[in-house]
Amino acid sequence: MNAITIRNLTKIYANGTKALKNVDLAVAEGDFFALLGANGAGKTTLIGIVTSLVNKTSGKVHVFNYDLDNEEDKIKAKKTIGIVPQEFNFNIFEKVQDIILTQAGYFGIEWKKAFPQAEMLLKKLGLWEKRNSTARTLSGGMKRRLLIARALIHQPQLLILDEPTAGVDVELRHGMWEYLRELNHNGTTILLTTHYLEEVEQMCRQAAIIKNGEIIHNDKVKHLVQFLEEEIYVVTVKEMRPLDKIKHFNPTIIDDKTIEVELSKKETLNDFIMQLSATGTIVTDIHPKEHRLEKLFLTLLKQ
Ligand code: ADP
Repeated sequence: MNAITIRNLTKIYANGTKALKNVDLAVAEGDFFALLGANGAGKTTLIGIVTSLVNKTSGKVHVFNYDLDNEEDKIKAKKTIGIVPQEFNFNIFEKVQDIILTQAGYFGIEWKKAFPQAEMLLKKLGLWEKRNSTARTLSGGMKRRLLIARALIHQPQLLILDEPTAGVDVELRHGMWEYLRELNHNGTTILLTTHYLEEVEQMCRQAAIIKNGEIIHNDKVKHLVQFLEEEIYVVTVKEMRPLDKIKHFNPTIIDDKTIEVELSKKETLNDFIMQLSATGTIVTDIHPKEHRLEKLFLTLLKQ
């Protein structure tokens, strides 16, 4: 079964903006799916239609077997979805635990069940200590995790996240990926939108690329990233050591703490780092030089 089936979906906003143009898309049940695209591509509109927050202009959308054109089905479809929006949309003066329990009430979950579920989620997402604090006292990363906990209180089969790690620092981002992977492993279908290709490579199996309201690519992630033949990495080190021994990678010393290295997809970054470590170099940071998603878009568009 598909978690989401979209056929010939078009959305034209009242001002005439054509945000989606005859989109066909299927997300299989159990999949971890990324919807990639630049700002204004149509990602939020698509998610809005699937979650019944935005009215479509034409086309068909099913969530599991529920037809969103049928009012009864629509209500059932909504119960299968947990949504993590881009913006923080909770009452910042409400306590963390109450935000979750209010949501449970909204889905008609009885207290007896809601409370232990809220406790489990708050603990899993590192918010249990903060349960009696008001949301406004939380850091950005914590607020993001609160949105995730809230989205999961009714144990949805489908979790949709709109840019889940925007504004979340690297360490927390990894923790969040870990948790989302675990959820997916346990059967939750996940659809996320993102600007970060790293995020997609870390977690997702399938990715669709949307551009100006049209799906221009839909493939397994491991196929998509093959379009990125070469990659320049910026490596920050604690102290520069002679790099003669790792010459065949041809690293460039930028300054006394920075190295740049171009790696092809055949040479793993791991190999390079291991050889670098063998010279006694301590690596403090590694990141791709370019915005890889943009590079992928450019590469694909040239095809
Ligand atoms: P994304 O989430 O990929 O950034 P959106 O779905 O938000 O893209 O936007 C797609 C297009 O629709 C953009 O051109 C945007 O300006 C337009 N758009 C989005 N929401 C509205 C709205 N409520 N009214 C008019 N145009 C909108």
